[in-house]
Amino acid sequence: MITSRAWSGKKYAVLGLARSGAATAEALLASGAELLVWDDRPEVREAFAGRDGVLVADPLQADLTGYAGVVVSPGVPLNTHPIKPYADSFDVPVIGDIELFAQARAELPPHKVVGITGTNGKSTTTALTHHILKTAGLPTTMGGNIGLPILGQDPLPEGGVYVLELSSYQIDLTYSLDCDVAVLLNVTPDHLDRYDGDFEKYSRAKERLFRLQSDEHIALWNEADPESGEAAYRLEHEVGRWENVIEFHPDQFPVGQQFWPSLQGYHNLANANAAIRVGHAFGLAEDVIEEGLRTFPGLPHRMERVGEVAGVAYVNDSKATNTAASAPALAAFDNVHWILGGLAKEPGLGECEAELSHVKAAYTIGKSGPDFAALLEDRVPTTQCGTLDKAVTTAAEAATPGDTVLLSPACASFDQFRDFEERGDAFRAAVAALAEGAAI
Ligand code: ADP
Repeated sequence: MITSRAWSGKKYAVLGLARSGAATAEALLASGAELLVWDDRPEVREAFAGRDGVLVADPLQADLTGYAGVVVSPGVPLNTHPIKPYADSFDVPVIGDIELFAQARAELPPHKVVGITGTNGKSTTTALTHHILKTAGLPTTMGGNIGLPILGQDPLPEGGVYVLELSSYQIDLTYSLDCDVAVLLNVTPDHLDRYDGDFEKYSRAKERLFRLQSDEHIALWNEADPESGEAAYRLEHEVGRWENVIEFHPDQFPVGQQFWPSLQGYHNLANANAAIRVGHAFGLAEDVIEEGLRTFPGLPHRMERVGEVAGVAYVNDSKATNTAASAPALAAFDNVHWILGGLAKEPGLGECEAELSHVKAAYTIGKSGPDFAALLEDRVPTTQCGTLDKAVTTAAEAATPGDTVLLSPACASFDQFRDFEERGDAFRAAVAALAEGAAI
């Protein structure tokens, strides 16, 4: 667990006691802080009742005078939730666990922090960067939007590197994180409901990761992504940071991609080049970086090949929850039987439009199924399937050897599934059932 003398004797409210909230509460308590904790689910908050230094009560009803912070989970929408104006009225900052981590850094053994943000590719690039650093023999861990809650982890020994995946929501709750290396992968429309429908607001939220850095630290941005370029431009012209604002490009070091099994597709070249640049920032040797790229095992639900049945490949890309994320997956294969639909983030096909030549047939599911079907019908053979199971069996019947059945929904999953993981697991199970059927 990460603790800090900086929190000792101070009062914090912790709103939301799921994984990272619970880890935060424990870290604060172990550091000698006094807590007011709350969660809408009674059984979760009651688990804290009766503990020394803990009061269970709703911070929205409490007198927050003198509190050092209200810690919320990144799932709390700051633009609409009453906690933000309420905390503001007491002059108490609303923060997240990443901000507390930033405050604890001074007491950790000497270390570096890499922060990675962007609309798409964060998890892949974070896991890849961590893998490359580990391959190089550096003590390293992942945290933020990936892996275990950062405050629940043990501090790294001297020379360690914390690789943090940071969503814009997490950056919104962070004020003093000075990343040694910060990466902006891309910014495309997503999550705009949290930014009052304002794309520039969303883009600037991500860009804050750079603005929190000291001048001597490295800001890496993607030359192939227009909005990432805008952010770099603003950093130079509005902030006056001209040094250490460094671009990477997906085509910069593409030579080895055929040897990187878990990094196929053009989008993964962007992720790989970002990670390569981070490796350079740490002075790693080229052959070590290359070994890391080669041995990276990949992440589940991101263009994950889950099986082959009757010569047809089945690929789970359930994590693609917007059209910008699905487009590269379509581009990575030919003769795609594309399963899409769910809760759409935007109208239309977006960046998938340009990749329709790769699509042999489409199968729509979920709430947006009929809308997507209407858009696709005249372009490719389209079947409205409603459910994922139906889509898998229908695609399996139509597919011929050499084809790829791809779940890359371009939508959120919440209309039919708990989350994208459950959706991907359902796809994997449906493919396993197909394989069993084929074997009988
Ligand atoms: P995040 O953590 O930002 O959601 P992931 O690494 O989990 O990103 O990838 C999410 C989805 O986005 C994947 O399914 C993949 O198809 C797509 N993707 C990954 N990297 C990129 C990228 N650099 N540009 C566009 N799309 C990407």
